[in-house]
Amino acid sequence: MSSTIKHRRVRVLLPLAAGDMYDYRAPDSLDVEIGHFVTVPLGKREVTGVVWEEAADSDLAEDRMKDVLSLLPCAKLPSDSIKFIDWVAQYTMQRRGRVLRMAMSVPDALYPKTPRVGYRYTGALPEKMTAARKRVLDLIEEGGVQTAADLAAIAGVSTSVVKGLADKGALEAVDLPAEKPIDRPDWQYARFDLSDDQQVAAKSLASDVARQSFSVSLLDGVTGSGKTEVYFEAIAACLKEGRQALVLLPEIALTAQWLSRFEARFGVRPVEWHSDLGQAERRRNWRAVIEGRADIVVGARSALFLPFDNLGLIVVDEEHETSFKQDEGVPYNARDMAVVRGKIGDFPVVLASATPSLESLMNAKAGKYKHLKLPSRYGGALLPNVDIIDLRQHRPGSQRWISDPLRLAIEATLAEGQQVMLFLNRRGYAPLTLCDSCGHRLQCPNCSAWLVEHRLANRLQCHHCGYTAVSPKSCVECGAEDSFKACGPGIERLSEEAEMLFPGRRIAMMASDTVASPRAAAEFVAAMERGEIDILIGTQIVAKGYHFPNLTLVGIIDADLGLAGGDLRAAERTYQLLSQVTGRAGRESSPGKVFLQSYLPEHPVIEAIVRQQSDDFFALEAAGRESAGMPPFGRLAALVLSSPKAESVARFARDLARCAPMGRKITVLGPAPAPLSMIRGRHRYRFLVKCEKDVNIQSVVAKWLKGRKVPADIRLQIDIDPYNF
Ligand code: ADP
Ligand code: ZN
Repeated sequence: MSSTIKHRRVRVLLPLAAGDMYDYRAPDSLDVEIGHFVTVPLGKREVTGVVWEEAADSDLAEDRMKDVLSLLPCAKLPSDSIKFIDWVAQYTMQRRGRVLRMAMSVPDALYPKTPRVGYRYTGALPEKMTAARKRVLDLIEEGGVQTAADLAAIAGVSTSVVKGLADKGALEAVDLPAEKPIDRPDWQYARFDLSDDQQVAAKSLASDVARQSFSVSLLDGVTGSGKTEVYFEAIAACLKEGRQALVLLPEIALTAQWLSRFEARFGVRPVEWHSDLGQAERRRNWRAVIEGRADIVVGARSALFLPFDNLGLIVVDEEHETSFKQDEGVPYNARDMAVVRGKIGDFPVVLASATPSLESLMNAKAGKYKHLKLPSRYGGALLPNVDIIDLRQHRPGSQRWISDPLRLAIEATLAEGQQVMLFLNRRGYAPLTLCDSCGHRLQCPNCSAWLVEHRLANRLQCHHCGYTAVSPKSCVECGAEDSFKACGPGIERLSEEAEMLFPGRRIAMMASDTVASPRAAAEFVAAMERGEIDILIGTQIVAKGYHFPNLTLVGIIDADLGLAGGDLRAAERTYQLLSQVTGRAGRESSPGKVFLQSYLPEHPVIEAIVRQQSDDFFALEAAGRESAGMPPFGRLAALVLSSPKAESVARFARDLARCAPMGRKITVLGPAPAPLSMIRGRHRYRFLVKCEKDVNIQSVVAKWLKGRKVPADIRLQIDIDPYNF
């Protein structure tokens, strides 16, 4: 018997939805280290993964072991990233491979970039001219350089024709420039003189950054107080330390103004990370992060999973925003996970907001977070004056939404040459369309939701699954002709009313569907800044972050919208949204005015907005949550079961209910049809697990599900700390 040489074994994590870790032999020919990106065999396939840990304890028989095939020419996944992915997977109760997938979202970034070659016309003609060759030469740009693939595509020939022309001397090959270099920001490029309040906050943050140990600061400043300039100083301190900084922003379409402010401060644009980037730019930026060449990254929530090796600061701007919460795939809250990332990397985290979340406020009150306050607007601008228009007394006419007092205020503002913003958080023309003669409502076939009329696009649309249809000519129920009527206002309908009331005024609409890209948003902002828009009508996307000096009047068309509904955070969210909208008015020398139309003027949220007294509102909200044992006073997890088969999912939900966890500190609510009981053709049931704060909710859920087989047609999604339920 030959001596058994036990080779070194490593555990490789594969970024697959169902994937986890598999053991492989590390051949002597490869210098395999933890964090290396490697290729390994998986069945008949060859897949890319990451060497996660040593596997000396692996008990797989030697003859069944397979070798790591190759090391990819890419920097290693940093050890903090490995720890972070492990942590997130455990906390969210998701497979590690799914979390790794979020960190490896640019697969081709792992491979060396082949130098790109382009072709230029030399002026010579090939001896033998064919029709295909002639087409290429006719179409090549004068003096331009184009790739073989591009040339072949425009001429409708194969790339071999292009190569042939090069062989014959009619084209010459030229190296195309490498990818755009990454700019290095200069921390001293242009410093602002900070106000006294700003200085105090900035000093605190900068010294935390210099210390490079974990801490969380809540930068809590009213709208227009200059929070951005304050955290820019923290970023400057981080650059000075030679470490990377990450800024998370909620909606990337809103960053046009932010980017120019950044450039004014640091001299260059930061490295960006969001869904609107092209493939080449994603690749370039991902590599720049892992190689430590990206000093400052600004991005959407997914940027948190970039493989930073030298991260020294995370700023989460508008930390209260619910868009930091991802509901699909791996459900996580980027704000909470940013704090975890700071703990793992031992560096400070800054949470900034004019309307902090109840969670962060409680942490600040408990002394876990430093509470940095900016109580007044920068440059002496006053907070706007907020007035309620009681719609019970000033009801607009039928099919009208702008009351007389609001109309008069708009006229007066426009007469002064100032700008107006009307806020209505509803896209499209009307939220509901129904038949005049039988009352039939147009509903999405895939979801339990109404179809929303989008008159500009001339179609009906489901806001949950994206289903679209043309408006039917006659009612499918009763056959009546042209009987469908719009019910209620969306911004398109509001804009119609505004055009009628204010003829000749320049009215523009801004919603996620009318302003879909960052570039479109930037054009909008520029038009607003140049004064080319008199009345801006928008949904929540206009509410946040923008600074328009000449905007002095904000009209909130339906302040009550969002207060109804059983959502735990309905009141908090409405409060935050309305404060943000309110904060757009009068941000410079001209004082701002806000009119808020409401049928519920005594509602605590509406009263708090009018008084601009967030403390009272949050005290009330906290008391309510505490007595209900809801977050942040208790812990919550949602289990959503869904299936195309209604019966099957209902049955499985009943089965699960029978063995639901019980205990003095545990409550299980449900099963109940989820608030949207059908989405994309899947029927949904939901359980809510509520625990006291000291209970490990993950192990409660794990114990419940242990050994239980989920039928093949059913999807079970676990959402720890759910938001939208
Ligand atoms: P916030 O984010 O707190 O709502 P911003 O950071 O947008 O407030 O600041 C409001 C306005 O004041 C912006 O136009 C900003 O450029 C300006 N500003 C804030 N701080 C300063 C400063 N120290 N020097 C000059 N301008 C400032
Ligand atoms: Zn739908």
